[in-house]
Amino acid sequence: MNLGAARSLSREDWRALAARLRPETRMLIDGHFLDSMTGGVFETINPADGSVLATVSSAAGVDVDRAVASARRAFRSGCWSRLPPRRRMEILYRWRELIEAHAAELALLDTLDMGKPIADALNVDLPAVIDTIGFMAECVDKVDGAVTSTAPDVMHFVLREPLGVVAAISPWNYPLLMATWKVAPALAAGNTVVLKPAEQSPLSALQLARLFLEAGGPPGVFNVVNGPGEIAGKALALHPEVAKVSFTGSTAVGKLMLQYAGLSNMKRVALECGGKSPQIFLADTPDLDRAVAAACNGIFANMGEVCNAGSRLLVERRIHEEFVERFIAVSANAYRAGDPLDPATSMGPLVDRGAQRRVLGYIDTGRREGARLRFGGDVPSGLGCGAYVNPTLFTGVDNGMTIAREEIFGPVACVIPFEDLDAAIDIANDTIYGLAAGIWTRDLATAHRLIREIEAGVLWVNCFDEGDMTQPFGGYKQSGNARDKCFDSLLSYTQTKSAWLRITQPSG
Ligand code: NAD
Repeated sequence: MNLGAARSLSREDWRALAARLRPETRMLIDGHFLDSMTGGVFETINPADGSVLATVSSAAGVDVDRAVASARRAFRSGCWSRLPPRRRMEILYRWRELIEAHAAELALLDTLDMGKPIADALNVDLPAVIDTIGFMAECVDKVDGAVTSTAPDVMHFVLREPLGVVAAISPWNYPLLMATWKVAPALAAGNTVVLKPAEQSPLSALQLARLFLEAGGPPGVFNVVNGPGEIAGKALALHPEVAKVSFTGSTAVGKLMLQYAGLSNMKRVALECGGKSPQIFLADTPDLDRAVAAACNGIFANMGEVCNAGSRLLVERRIHEEFVERFIAVSANAYRAGDPLDPATSMGPLVDRGAQRRVLGYIDTGRREGARLRFGGDVPSGLGCGAYVNPTLFTGVDNGMTIAREEIFGPVACVIPFEDLDAAIDIANDTIYGLAAGIWTRDLATAHRLIREIEAGVLWVNCFDEGDMTQPFGGYKQSGNARDKCFDSLLSYTQTKSAWLRITQPSG
């Protein structure tokens, strides 16, 4: 069912579809769905009610070897890497169409796997996946080499070639979208791919890859293995035949990726990691209601499980009380925990019980360290079977507190008051992260100063979390070293080859 039709479904319709769903659970290698050679499996759990959603093949090292060998063979055969660019484009466009046509099933898989409200899956994730593939398809024949200026008896040119086998290791918070941000540019550039989705959300990736095959993608070009990071992910990142690992996930695991590359073949490592993004609200914030709504969405959307979540709300002292009052008023209605299959639900469960325990633990720490809990901090009543945490607000937060320093990855907002612009910049930059920041001011000069002085890869002025495919997305400092989206991200899956031709004039 396509996106338009899916948007008109009711909760009962979604429940009926979920009851009939028989998701693919095996690995996809060389165009075939296969069980693990060791027979290993793991369960994926629906975090809304704790039920077992599916038993999924768990890739061991031998399976990863098989997947990489298949990707390597496909790459060397040229069935994809040497396909005329327009033909590669056509397959990617066809893939995009098939994703649009199967949007309901794809959205449902992510909602069941990790608790995302179905409305978000349909209105945020799927459109972004479709845009990503469309954008990367458009870019395929825009990848140029160059002829450089050299002496007349020399012809020097630069070719741009794909890297080979790309390992994509992705997180669970936007399962389809984070995978697509890697797989689409890697494929568009002519690479072959082995994708290892997060073990909390293994299902939609298999469907994504199946649709690529159906679109005419050659077998072996897009492979998927599932399983625990420490086994399947590690084997992939250490693999000597992998030319690049493109990773999105926590900063701690991102650092492991750099080690794996050093221990194996110096593969390229692209990292999109954690964040603790500040939003700075100056006293001259235009339209405080809009700013407060953006603050609320910036931390509570997707249950706060967003890498660039605006988790630190830096508010100038002069507007602090008014800001907090309005934030409390807006949040009371905007985010209510409920069944993620209900299109009216704006907040689902966290990804699993472990995440619920971790977030509640941070809330306890916030209280103990002296922050003032203004609402939330608990689990919603009546939803005890699920991994829910209510939207939570702390005020009186000092930037030295644990809740201001560590990535909570849950619906916990921290308001930090500040006195002047210098203090705001110091607080904003006093973090190991540097993914994104929001700036709210009427004053252009102030906005310019903040844009330049804040150490983050993405800055939003008088808005938050906006953008499109032309925008490079990625972090400074320990938020990573890569840029997703944008044309440059496609180029990052290529390498240059320099060809120097000495032209000898025929003698005589
Ligand atoms: P995670 O680091 O635990 O896992 C990410 C992926 O790495 C998963 O596929 C996992 O199986 C794998 N993995 C885990 N341990 C591994 C190991 N030892 N070796 C190889 N692979 C391993 O992160 P997560 O909990 O899935 O995702 C949440 C994190 O992702 C947050 O920190 C969030 O900020 C970050 N994130 C960043 C961006 C971005 O664009 N910067 C986007 C989304 C999420």
